[in-house]
Amino acid sequence: MNTVQKRKMKTIGIIGAGAGGLCALRQVLSEEQFTPLIWEQADEVGGTWIYTPDIEKDEYGYPIHSSMYKNLLTNLPKEVMAFPDFPFKEGEKSFIHHTEVLQYLKDYADHFKLIPWIKFRHRIELVEPVDPNNRYTKWRITVKNLKDGSSSVSEYDAVIVCNGHYFEPRYPDIDDLELFKGKKLHSHSYRIPDDYHGTKTVVLGASASGLDIALELAKVAEKVYLSHNHPFPFPSKLPPNVFQVKGVKGAKENGFELKDDTFIEADAIIYCTGYEYVFPFLSSSCNITVEDNQVKTLYKHMINSAFPTMSFIGIPFQICPFPLFDVQAQYIVQLIEGNIQMPLHDDVVKEMEQSSIPKKHYHKLGIFGKQQMYLEDLQREMKVGHLPQFYHQIPKIVILRLFFSLMDFKKFNYSTKEINDGEIQIEER
Ligand code: FAD
Repeated sequence: MNTVQKRKMKTIGIIGAGAGGLCALRQVLSEEQFTPLIWEQADEVGGTWIYTPDIEKDEYGYPIHSSMYKNLLTNLPKEVMAFPDFPFKEGEKSFIHHTEVLQYLKDYADHFKLIPWIKFRHRIELVEPVDPNNRYTKWRITVKNLKDGSSSVSEYDAVIVCNGHYFEPRYPDIDDLELFKGKKLHSHSYRIPDDYHGTKTVVLGASASGLDIALELAKVAEKVYLSHNHPFPFPSKLPPNVFQVKGVKGAKENGFELKDDTFIEADAIIYCTGYEYVFPFLSSSCNITVEDNQVKTLYKHMINSAFPTMSFIGIPFQICPFPLFDVQAQYIVQLIEGNIQMPLHDDVVKEMEQSSIPKKHYHKLGIFGKQQMYLEDLQREMKVGHLPQFYHQIPKIVILRLFFSLMDFKKFNYSTKEINDGEIQIEER
């Protein structure tokens, strides 16, 4: 380990005003010596929570960023979604509509007076190290003003990348897919169930989106095939017209061959197969690559170990996003201030290469222990207190309920008011 010398960093550029960028800005502003700026391509804060019925291009011809669907309720209770220093408004329900999350993020931005530091309708086009031979380089950032089409270039001492990870669809490998004549869609572009009335629809993938969309379609479709490769069937009771089947192997004109060599007739397929990490604006000289869902080479899932003046918020998945973003943002601020020790690049590379975790799961933390260990490790290093226990306990209860009672798990409400030494009172509606 070598100690990062105290540097007088002045300017910090932040890419994106979703939850990650907003809390990065809030933490950066808490240190007076920094001058931050966020560039945001949209015209408001909120990122993926800004619902739009559009599914292809925005008014400037860029791909739609948001993956929200019209009826989406959160899959985590608001009590553990909240940033630790800014609770959601009181309200009976724990699982809330996406519009309430967007409003929460707008309230957060207002409360911490973040808006004046954000340039809306500004899209980052290129980020390059000013001096690739200096590990603590500044960054040259090319920005397009979408309103007048002009581009400008400026230099920043540090850059925090918060561009989100739920907008570039990952597509499955299906033999002869072009033969299938029905409707094909990635969950990124799913908005409403109306097109699926009376259909036989395959929902491919049984993670958060797949399960949720299958339940929504079951209300209108004739049959929903929940197709997945899990070694065992999803244990919960499902609506009577939802059938669990094996993963899809190949396509025919009127349906799909499954991995157990059976065939199902179908009118439509929705790929709930996840998303890719992409950073289209990073030049190759930034030294960041993505290999089989692993972003290389990141120290503690967030710091570019080749150039520690570049960091990323929100890479880990299967987490409680906002609280994790908040701790990551604090850590990044501490690092930029020079209060955190940064190991050598080669040591971080070696550690990633020697990890026994498969690349595609490298950034998966999960709420059964690993997220807590990760956060507490960061907090110990920063010498700050840990999150209240309920941030770790409630998600475990939620996930067990989801597994065994998928159709009902959002009917429970969680109260943190009565918590005493980690004790949680759970209300049932
Ligand atoms: P985003 O919200 O995607 O924000 C990224 C921002 O960067 C966007 O505003 C985008 O416009 C901007 N940007 C990107 N590229 C550029 C560029 N080149 N130039 C300028 N700006 C750029 N989390 C929960 O806690 N609970 C839930 O119930 C939940 N449900 C979800 C359901 C769905 C369908 C999805 C997709 C996600 C869900 N999440 C949920 C996870 C959610 O993604 C995170 O909570 C969080 O909002 C992610 O914030 P972010 O800032 O990382 O990314």
